[in-house]
Amino acid sequence: MRLQLRRMSFRSCRWGRLGSRVDDVRLCMKRQSFLFLLRRAGSLLRFVITSMVVASCAFLNPALAWAEQASALVLHRTVTFADRQSYIELPFEVPEGVTRVSIETSYTEREKHTTIDLGLFDSERFRGWSGGNKSSFTVSETGATPSYLPGPVRGGRWKLVLGVPSIREGVRSEFTAKVYFAWAGDSPGVSTFSEVPLRGGPAWYRGDLHMHDAHSDGSCLSQSGKKVPCPLYKTVETAAQRGLDFIAISDHNTISQFDAMRELQPYFDHLLLLPAREITTFYGHANVFGTTEFIDFRLTSSYVPDINHLLKQVQDLHGLISLNHPGLPSGEICMGCGWTAPNTDFRMINAIEVINGDLGEGPGSGIPLWEEELNKGFRLTGIGGSDNHNADIARDGRSAIGRPTTVIHARELSDRALLDGIKAGHVFIDAEGTKNRTVEFEAKTDSDTAAMGDSIHAAAGQKAHFNLRMIALQGAYPEVIEDGQSTTLMDKTVCAEPDETKGFDYTSDGHRHWFRVNIRSTNGLLLVIGNPIYLNF
Ligand SMILES: [Zn+2]
Ligand SMILES: [Zn+2]
Repeated sequence: MRLQLRRMSFRSCRWGRLGSRVDDVRLCMKRQSFLFLLRRAGSLLRFVITSMVVASCAFLNPALAWAEQASALVLHRTVTFADRQSYIELPFEVPEGVTRVSIETSYTEREKHTTIDLGLFDSERFRGWSGGNKSSFTVSETGATPSYLPGPVRGGRWKLVLGVPSIREGVRSEFTAKVYFAWAGDSPGVSTFSEVPLRGGPAWYRGDLHMHDAHSDGSCLSQSGKKVPCPLYKTVETAAQRGLDFIAISDHNTISQFDAMRELQPYFDHLLLLPAREITTFYGHANVFGTTEFIDFRLTSSYVPDINHLLKQVQDLHGLISLNHPGLPSGEICMGCGWTAPNTDFRMINAIEVINGDLGEGPGSGIPLWEEELNKGFRLTGIGGSDNHNADIARDGRSAIGRPTTVIHARELSDRALLDGIKAGHVFIDAEGTKNRTVEFEAKTDSDTAAMGDSIHAAAGQKAHFNLRMIALQGAYPEVIEDGQSTTLMDKTVCAEPDETKGFDYTSDGHRHWFRVNIRSTNGLLLVIGNPIYLNF
């Protein structure tokens, strides 16, 4: 116990003691960050008074990178033979405003045949029992580790329950639980359903950012051939079989899918499950990625009087928002499908779904709106999404899972890194969802380098050299788009090699321009859409 605490830099915590019934439960309120404490001062004060704890952890080590996730409480109990075949309650106070409670436990003397089971009651009801099968778990309003129930997280006295099926005479087992709290508006962790990145290292990661299942209007055929709501696991399984690195499950307005995703993520440990939802209004649809909290979608109601009110909610929750299929018509034929929300503040929009399913070009394409907004000076990332509503659609079918695939250059395979990659525009879209087509588009001046999504500066008369690497694109040719217009800046001969590079020089006029690439098949079909490099933005 002591050793462990020392490693966690708890050395100068002064341990307070609760009343006699829980004499062995020692709590130390660990600092999370100075601002954090100030923000939570009211509820924390109540918490401190309630639990009568002298919680005086000083600011021990300002360099602690994990301080934001530091445990809020440490519970301890020495378990002995006297506890055998009984239940021990370890109460702890959950402050008002907490949105998630996560508990990590450990105990000594397992090798001496000690077994300690776990369960949880919140301030009102039973929240689950995991016996001896899990040492850590989490519960929130929208999701919980299997064995536990999602539901409201209310402040008050919660109880971690230990069952002791076996401990031998003379054995003293030291049990420790670290309790972590999260609050509305906290920055999300590395990933929502995984504590660590699924893969490390910078790479192009390939995935699908738009799909539906039984939690909204996804459907497929049941065992007896009836059309039924299509279970989420089929979507995840199909995506995994297709070798995707990530998928975003974006059911309409609801957030019920997150609990199912939490169950599936540990099994699908090559496929990152990114929380999303399709905000579906009468004036447009938009995917929000990265937050699991409720976002009020009732645009035009008194709760959400205008679109910018909705966009502000997303910003406050550290979400990323992308306008879906903005080029579709709206009205009776497809309610709210096109983007018609008046006075949209594009400074709060991160991305546009430029290909929805097979709507790459022509009617329904999102490219015209995207390029129009880029020409106004907004930096918006073009992404794609299958908008799959049936996991059984064959790989080459319309809106099949992974068709199109959005390819993101990220520092690792985690929620945070993928969202950063989208925000930065380090993205291209593989319209047919292949496993290997890749484009790397770069610009260089004497002093600067930019990849897709980056900005570069060049004064009037200064030259920039653009370079395009095309992988697995034999038989296809590149097209450079400048400010929305197709150009002849680059040689359009088809690639003969599996890895080919072409380039061109551009003399700046000192003004703002953007450049991106399309790769087309010889019959003109759009295969890859690149994101812009911004000049003088
Ligand atoms: Zn939609
Ligand atoms: Zn959709």
